[in-house]
Amino acid sequence: MNEFEYVLPAKKSEVDQFFKDTDSQRLRDYNKNLGLLNRMKDKIINEYHAIKSDYLKNQEEYQVKFLQFRSKVLKLNEAKKCICGADVRLVSGPHFGDFWGCTEHMNYAVRHENYILRPDALPNFYEPSVKGWPAQIRNRLGLSKSVSTGIIYNFILNNNLPDLSLHFEGVSELGSIYKIVDTRKKATAFELQQFKRLGFHYDKCVWQFSIKYKSLGVRGQKYAFPDIVCSDDRNVYIYECKTSKSDVNDYQKSLYIDLISKLLKDAGDTRNVVFEYLFEHA
Ligand SMILES: [Zn+2]
Repeated sequence: MNEFEYVLPAKKSEVDQFFKDTDSQRLRDYNKNLGLLNRMKDKIINEYHAIKSDYLKNQEEYQVKFLQFRSKVLKLNEAKKCICGADVRLVSGPHFGDFWGCTEHMNYAVRHENYILRPDALPNFYEPSVKGWPAQIRNRLGLSKSVSTGIIYNFILNNNLPDLSLHFEGVSELGSIYKIVDTRKKATAFELQQFKRLGFHYDKCVWQFSIKYKSLGVRGQKYAFPDIVCSDDRNVYIYECKTSKSDVNDYQKSLYIDLISKLLKDAGDTRNVVFEYLFEHA
């Protein structure tokens, strides 16, 4: 449970000023490190390209392994076999209902799994990712933590090289570099479409609801921007748009719930707060 000294709706002029201050602070940090970055330019760019080619190589290997996995699943399903090679049969149990089980399941020396009724099952190995490439560059070169990932990110982009995460995975690295980004600049089609859709359902819907707050015992005022906040007679709903399930953030979720709850409580409003994620890719 987050506790606050105060929570207030923020005015547009305050939010504008906040982002202006944030941008100039980031620019100052960048310029402070520019000498070091320029001295290490070749090394930094070499690591960038090394991360890119590692990723491409891993991705190629993954595709091969993935296709092998798929055809194995297909064959096992046709033959009604477990991955251990033994037959599977339909088991009817009083407790678990019907399920497909391996006839050799008592043999604990080997792994048992079958994909019957779930031909789209995913393999137990992960797709390679370039996410976090600025931190990787920093780690590979042993740069100090004072060279933030944001500084490396901007240095690469200023050298006319693309954000690898955006290029290969369609999700900008910025979202993980900065806790707070001026999302007003990068609203996705998905977010706008959701906002429109929700607008038909609720009495009131606010896009990028701006809140300023101060946590108890923490220095400085902070800002928060829940994506979409809607309300009706009974509830206030917080909708947070995410690209996929892997982007959910439990801290952000509890913070937003606590912030909106405090706002309502201070206003003597007894409605409930409901939080829901909206996923672009299920
Ligand atoms: Zn088996």
